[in-house]
Amino acid sequence: MHLFYKIKESLKSENLVNYNKFIKNLEFDENNSTSTHLIIKAPNIFIANFVKRKYLSKIDELYEKETGIKAHIDIITKEIKHNPVKLEEIIQHTTPSVLIPEYTFESFIVGPSNQFAYTAAKSVAENPGKNYNPLFIYGGVGLGKTHLLQAIGNYLKTSFNVLYVTSEQFMNEFTENIRMKTPERFHEKYRNCDVLLIDDVQFFAGKERTQEEFFHTFNELYNQKKQICLTADRPPKRLYDLVDRLRSRFEAGLIVDIQPPELETKIEIIRKKCELNGIYLPDEIIEYIATKLDSNIREIEGMITKINAMSKILGITEITLDFAKQALREHIKDKKEIITFEDIIKLIAKEFNIKPSEIISKSRNRNIVQARRCAIYLAREFTKESTPIIAKYFGLKDHSAVSHAIKNFNKKLKEDSEFRIKIEELKNKIQIKKSE
Ligand code: ADP
Ligand code: MG
Repeated sequence: MHLFYKIKESLKSENLVNYNKFIKNLEFDENNSTSTHLIIKAPNIFIANFVKRKYLSKIDELYEKETGIKAHIDIITKEIKHNPVKLEEIIQHTTPSVLIPEYTFESFIVGPSNQFAYTAAKSVAENPGKNYNPLFIYGGVGLGKTHLLQAIGNYLKTSFNVLYVTSEQFMNEFTENIRMKTPERFHEKYRNCDVLLIDDVQFFAGKERTQEEFFHTFNELYNQKKQICLTADRPPKRLYDLVDRLRSRFEAGLIVDIQPPELETKIEIIRKKCELNGIYLPDEIIEYIATKLDSNIREIEGMITKINAMSKILGITEITLDFAKQALREHIKDKKEIITFEDIIKLIAKEFNIKPSEIISKSRNRNIVQARRCAIYLAREFTKESTPIIAKYFGLKDHSAVSHAIKNFNKKLKEDSEFRIKIEELKNKIQIKKSE
């Protein structure tokens, strides 16, 4: 839109440095915006967040000044975030339900973990409504369910009327149309499509009216041999809050799962993402990221973007392994669950020059008791385990014994500065160990 260009120009004249870093690469999503709802695409989550914080009200203002319209503005990235829904009511959308052109079969890396799901999706795209109806894809977070679902949509959108929505949007629209007393609008939209793609149907759980409506939509489309594809974080038989007749519909077609990718697949996915985003990372860094982060590809992508954005902002031309390690360490710091009891025991045993088994033994030897106390303190600081679990693991009587030990430990930390320094060192070590 010409107007968006004008807004950008105006921001450019205000601050050229920020313009180049954050504004220049924003794109206006013409296809999915309306005059009252603007969708702006940012190249990554880092920029999106910055623009939201610093520029949203300014853009809002400029748009209103030009058009007299007060619009709702969404800054989106390629990442899709879903907020679990508690109530069957209208939910504010952070992510519009749109097909993202980059989510294609070509940009999807196939490995043993997702081969089955990929082949099924491809087959559905090539023969909609014929082979597998419905297709139900399930798997953990960030493993590519949305990508595959959208790949079907992108493949078919030129010749068919494709409708992609998240289950939340389906629910919102349904509720809104009931409220506005315009159910026919809803029916028309959903029952007249050729291909219906619904993402994350686990959010239908417990929403009985929506399920009821979806049941009718499903039957109508199914009877007309229209293709339906669904995704969820678990198989239909484990969607406990789903009415039985809907569950049996979901089970009637083909159910495929996506497993976490193997290391090789992970490396290849990272390579592909870098290539698509114009980011250059040497092989050793790609491998490093693949081994250090777990299998949530969305998280891995976030990390790549972060490394890239950090290097740009800091003006680094060549990203080194050390730089990547540093960036990753910051990231891992936020993730307490990554550090396990075993990590702690290993480190403490080494530091105190004792055997790991001695730490969890009943020994009253002074050095061992001291080591055990440190381990318990670190376990409380760095793992997400509760005090009863910590008590059990380290052989203490009960959770109050853990609380008591920690209280004493904190007291000593306060009083003894030498001790405090030693513990700070230990804390650093345990985090660094994990990110190496
Ligand atoms: P899910 O819906 O299962 O939570 P997504 O489909 O949103 O996961 O995937 C998260 C990110 O990881 C997306 O950017 C997607 O493109 C990417 N991704 C996941 N699996 C693959 C793959 N096999 N090849 C390429 N990209 C992938
Ligand atoms: Mg998804």
